[in-house]
Amino acid sequence: MQHVQRQTAFMTKKCPDCMTSMPAAARRCPTCKKRLGEIDKLGFAKKPVDWFAYASTLIWVQGLCLFIWWAFFKA
Ligand SMILES: [Zn+2]
Repeated sequence: MQHVQRQTAFMTKKCPDCMTSMPAAARRCPTCKKRLGEIDKLGFAKKPVDWFAYASTLIWVQGLCLFIWWAFFKA
């Protein structure tokens, strides 16, 4: 009995948003211009972590807390 596990190597990857195929090394979808990450096991591009969205959410939440403090706790 032979157990050969094949790692499937993809030459192309698919955009998870618009399903366009592109070279595996592409960083950006040529059709919808979205940033794309590595290939997952199914041959789709992973979505990169959106640090800018995280940062702006954090700032927004901080601002909200400050507003609540200002509105309710200010003497
Ligand atoms: Zn796309």
